[in-house]
Amino acid sequence: MIDLYRVLPEEMDDLVVKLGHPRYRSGQLLRALYHESPRKMSDLHQIPASLRDALVTAGYTIGSEDEVHRVVSKDGHTTKLLLKFYDKTLIETVLMQYSKSQDRGHPRSTVCVSTQVGCPMGCVFCATGQMGFEKNLQAEKIVSQVLHFARILHQRGEHVTNLVFMGMGEPLANYDEMIRAVRLLTHPRAFGLGQRSITISTVGIIPGIDRLANEDLQVKLAISLHAPNDELRKKLVPTAGPHSVGDLIMAAKRYFKKTGRRVTFEYALIDDINDSTKVASELARVLKGNGAHVNLIPMNPTAGGFQRPARKKVLAFQQILRNGDVNCTVRVEKGVEISAACGQLRTDMIEKIN
Ligand code: SAH
Ligand code: SF4
Repeated sequence: MIDLYRVLPEEMDDLVVKLGHPRYRSGQLLRALYHESPRKMSDLHQIPASLRDALVTAGYTIGSEDEVHRVVSKDGHTTKLLLKFYDKTLIETVLMQYSKSQDRGHPRSTVCVSTQVGCPMGCVFCATGQMGFEKNLQAEKIVSQVLHFARILHQRGEHVTNLVFMGMGEPLANYDEMIRAVRLLTHPRAFGLGQRSITISTVGIIPGIDRLANEDLQVKLAISLHAPNDELRKKLVPTAGPHSVGDLIMAAKRYFKKTGRRVTFEYALIDDINDSTKVASELARVLKGNGAHVNLIPMNPTAGGFQRPARKKVLAFQQILRNGDVNCTVRVEKGVEISAACGQLRTDMIEKIN
């Protein structure tokens, strides 16, 4: 079975013609898939029954997802879903809304997608890393996460404005399916989201960063650094292996040179682990002078026993970076009370719903 939500527009044109139908049917099919809410083939009444039948006979399907759990933060700004696919795959996806209006009075609505079930990278502070690696998600399951929220937002007269690859899993460890999803979500004949509204976050797989730089895409890149030196970084990211902090900074420079897009370094601040003033000064030293932007994420406590630092430690860390001429912001906290750190909901729910 091949899900229509993994078929790129050019491939759809060829498919429709191959099945003996005029090419313009492909446009109708794509509009129905991305602008209506078909849950099964028979919902595609925009195309003739003979084409629907031909698609089914050729092994095509629409693999829809079910929402098995929803949690909404008290302020209503963060919604976290657990989605279950036809093949029982269970994944988390999150919507973060910011009241500051972005375009024509619409709130900024950022969807945070998962690219894997679990994650092979094993970061010690991350709930997804601690559940181990189960499997890669196919492109259609990444696309479906966005479409699911698009439907919810549509009912309120709103729409998806931004997309971040910061849910479960390491996007660059599932490169081909991740890129296929990005192409589907940004293609003007498919979902049509602006490339510049997308951020791909990576733990730092250097060959993947270089490959992404050469894709001719305008997506933003974030590298999860978490430490200014290899010794500390390897304690937090045990699979950092051969990729040193210095190599990551060089890779970020290459990405900037090739794409013209500055890379953000994410830094999960963990109490008494990587939040001292000494570490902040070292970080300022290694990042100084390359136009880097650091986004501090006071950590969401997970099962690992790690804690978030007190607010004043976070601000002191930020000040040291700024004094060292390094651009630095503190992530607006979203959904802490609904366990919005990646992997947490699935970990909490998996026993209850299975
Ligand atoms: N695998 C990719 C993308 C998914 S994680 C990556 O690591 O970048 C997205 C971001 O959430 C990363 O910056 C990661 O370090 C951060 N993160 C993971 N667990 C966290 C936690 N418990 N608290 C705060 N940030 C966390
Ligand atoms: Fe994987 Fe990212 Fe979690 Fe590390 S932080 S385990 S790379 S999802």
